[in-house]
Amino acid sequence: MGFKLACEDMGTTCPYVARGETMEELKADMAKHAKTVHSYTDEQLKDPKMMEAMKAAVEKE
Ligand SMILES: [Zn+2]
Repeated sequence: MGFKLACEDMGTTCPYVARGETMEELKADMAKHAKTVHSYTDEQLKDPKMMEAMKAAVEKE
């Protein structure tokens, strides 16, 4: 039992799916991916709108 977050659900055409056993792990995985692949900054990732969009796109598995 864990969580997943598809990059596609964040409005990209990227096939990456972040996964984590906990929300913290999931967020860390997605943050790392977003920074390395999509050149996001920490400021962009901490943006409340971004956090809302991420939360809305998270799925349990
Ligand atoms: Zn991506």
